[in-house]
Amino acid sequence: MRYLIISDIHGNYPALMAVLHTAQPYDAIWSLGDFVGYGPNPNECIDAIRNGDHLAVAGNHDWGVLGRADIFTFNSDARQALLWTQQELGASETAYLAELPTRLQVGEFLLVHASPRQPLWEYLIEAEVAADIFQRYDFRIAFVGHTHLPLLFEWREKTGEAGLLMPDYRNPVRLDHRRLIVNPGSVGQPRDGDPRAAYAILDTDAGTLEFHRVPYPVEITQERMRARGLPSRLIDRLEIGR
Ligand code: ZN
Repeated sequence: MRYLIISDIHGNYPALMAVLHTAQPYDAIWSLGDFVGYGPNPNECIDAIRNGDHLAVAGNHDWGVLGRADIFTFNSDARQALLWTQQELGASETAYLAELPTRLQVGEFLLVHASPRQPLWEYLIEAEVAADIFQRYDFRIAFVGHTHLPLLFEWREKTGEAGLLMPDYRNPVRLDHRRLIVNPGSVGQPRDGDPRAAYAILDTDAGTLEFHRVPYPVEITQERMRARGLPSRLIDRLEIGR
């Protein structure tokens, strides 16, 4: 099976469309949360995912829109976008978000938005923190998003440490029997200096994980954000990927 792993779509429909088309063929989508927030097309993004074979968990922005997370934990730009999204979101799309779990275990795979120990909030970027999580939680491969930074942690049993690896877009990662924490990066608002949409492919037959980037028409998303009066800082950052 080939699973398309995506996260942090954030209402960016042109970016999502580029990923869904370029990533083919795949059998199912695993989405790691933050369908909404920041971007101009929350309903379209939810509908594009929920109508196909998929699994998904909720992100902190999804909870922000639902009123389950205090909106004042978000910075003012994010808060403004969440308030707009609350008005924009359809009833059935809101109901879809409300049903999402915060954690999904699929055999040896674990899906969470942020981190196994704090599924909605923890920014998992340090190898020491990853090492602690490898030791405390029972998974072989955990998929996380939230930081919008594509990366990979590998458990090293002999030393009791986690190695931090940056994605290699040319060579697939061989899974073998390794324990990994994988962040595919963000579809809708990359923050690693590369504005292209990010995703990963888990191929369980080949035993590989692929990291990918795909360009999309950033200016179309920006134009839609302007038309909706979304904060200019959120509009500008898309073209630099920060
Ligand atoms: Zn996010």
